[in-house]
Amino acid sequence: MHRLLQRQTKRLFPDGVPDVEGLNDFLELVDSGYQNFEEQLMITERSLDISCNELTQRNNTLNLILDALPDMSLWIDSKEVVKDIRSGNFEPPLLTSESNFIKISDLELVKQSPELKQFIEGYQQGSNKTADLNINYDGVQYIMRVKLTNISKNSWLLVFRDIYLRKKLEELQKQQVEHSKRAAMQLQELVNAAPIGIIICSPQLEIIMVNEFSSQLLNRSKKEVVHRNPIEFIASQSHSVFKSRLNRALDCGEGFTVTPCDLMLLLPDGRFRQVEFSFSKLYFEQQQLIIMSITDIEERKSLESKLRTLAATDALTGAFNRRSFQQQTERAINTCRRWKAPLTVILFDIDHFKQVNDQFGHAAGDEVLIALVRHIQQSTRDMDILGRLGGEEFGLILPNTTSEIGYDTAQRLRREIENIEISYEDNELKITVSIGMTTLAYTELSTPIDEVLNRVDGYLYLAKDSGRNCVVQK
Ligand code: GH3
Ligand code: MG
Ligand code: MG
Repeated sequence: MHRLLQRQTKRLFPDGVPDVEGLNDFLELVDSGYQNFEEQLMITERSLDISCNELTQRNNTLNLILDALPDMSLWIDSKEVVKDIRSGNFEPPLLTSESNFIKISDLELVKQSPELKQFIEGYQQGSNKTADLNINYDGVQYIMRVKLTNISKNSWLLVFRDIYLRKKLEELQKQQVEHSKRAAMQLQELVNAAPIGIIICSPQLEIIMVNEFSSQLLNRSKKEVVHRNPIEFIASQSHSVFKSRLNRALDCGEGFTVTPCDLMLLLPDGRFRQVEFSFSKLYFEQQQLIIMSITDIEERKSLESKLRTLAATDALTGAFNRRSFQQQTERAINTCRRWKAPLTVILFDIDHFKQVNDQFGHAAGDEVLIALVRHIQQSTRDMDILGRLGGEEFGLILPNTTSEIGYDTAQRLRREIENIEISYEDNELKITVSIGMTTLAYTELSTPIDEVLNRVDGYLYLAKDSGRNCVVQK
C-alpha cells in the first residue's frame, strides 16, 4: 500500500481496517477527494487557458500594430537573444526571420554599425531610449531613429525607423534657407549698387528692401522706410496715378515694365520732390515682388524747361521765335475770345538797319537788336508777346487792348526806341522803327493769324513808304 494511503488509513482507522462497509465509506471519501482535486485542476487549467489566450491576443494586437508600421522591429530577451523580427518597409530587408534566436551582438547589422552596438550595450540595465544613428549596412547609408523599450521583465523591443529621407529633406530645407538668404543678400547688393532709387515691395505693399538712393530721394533713413507702405511717401495729388500704375504692374507678366510716370514725393518737412516712378514685377524665390525704380527728375525737368525755352526763343535776343510767337498768339487769341476782349497786333521793323551793319559792323547790329528787345520787354506787360519774325522785324501782341490804347502804346514805343542810346565801342547808336498795326475786336478773333500778320505787314510797309519812324494803323 502506498505510504500516504497507509498513513491516512492509520489515521482513519487507528483500531485496524474496519469491515467492508467501513472500507466502502473510506473509498468513497478517497473518490470524492480525487474528484475534488480534478475539478480544481480543471479550474486552474481553464484559468490558465484564459490568461494564455489574453496574452496571445495582446501579443497578436501588438504584432498587428508592429506589422502595420513601416519600421523594422525586433524583440530581445534579457540574454540578448533575438526573438521576433519584423523587417518593416526596408527593401531589401535588413533582417529576416533567419536571424531569430541568435544573439543580437552576432547580427551582421550590429556588427557593421558601431553606433548601434554602442546604443544596445547594457540595455538590460538601462531605461528606454531613442537615438538617431548613422548605420552603414552592406554599403548602404541609413539614418535611423532607433528606439529601445522595455516591454516586460524579460523582453525588450527595438524599433528602427528609416529617417534618411526626412533628414535629407531637413538638410535640403536648411540649404534652401541658406540659399534664400544668400540670394536675398545678392539682391540687396544689386539694389544698393543701382544708380537709381529702388524700392522692393511685397504684393501686400510692404517695403522689404530699399537702397541708399531711394532713402536720399525720400529724405528718410532706410529704417524709416522699411516695412511701410510706399504710398505713405507719395503726395496725395499723385496717389491715383501711383495706384493705377501699380495695378497695371500687378496685372502684367514678369519682367514687363509699366510706362514710367512722374510723381510727387512727400518729404518729411512737407516739401514735394518730383520724381519718375517705374513699376515692374519680379519672381524671387517663389515670391512675387514689386520693384519700383525712382529717378530724380528735378534736374531733368529744369533741363527740359531750359530746352523748351531754347527751342521757343531766338538765341540772340531772347524774344520768341516765329513759330512759338504764332503759338503764343493763338493762345492769346483764344483767351481774348473767352474774355470777349479785343487784341492788338503790332509789327515793326528797324529803319535802315543795313546801314548800322554797314557802318559799325554786324556785331554792332547784334547789340542793337539785343538792346531793342530788352527795352520792349521792359516797357510792355508780362502778358504781351514779343517775337522776332525775321532779321530786324518783330511782332508784338497786346491782348485785351483796344485800338486807342494799342495806338498809344505803339506811338510810345516808337518814341522810346527813337531815344534809346546804344553804346557800341566808342559810338552811340540810334535807331528808329516803322510800325504797322491793327486791333481785332473779339468778334474778329476767328481770322487765321497768318492772314492777320500778312495784313499788318502791309501796314508796316505803308509806314516805310510814309517816311519811316511812324505808325500806320488800320
Ligand atoms: P528798311 O528801312 O527798308 O527796313 O531798310 P533795312 O536796311 O532795315 O532793310 P534791309 O532789308 O535792306 O536790311 C535788313 C538788314 O538787317 C540786312 C541784314 O544784314 C540785317 N540783319 C538781319 N538779321 C540780322 C542780325 O541778326 N544781326 C545783324 N547784325 N544784322 C541783321
Ligand atoms: Mg529794316
Ligand atoms: Mg526788314
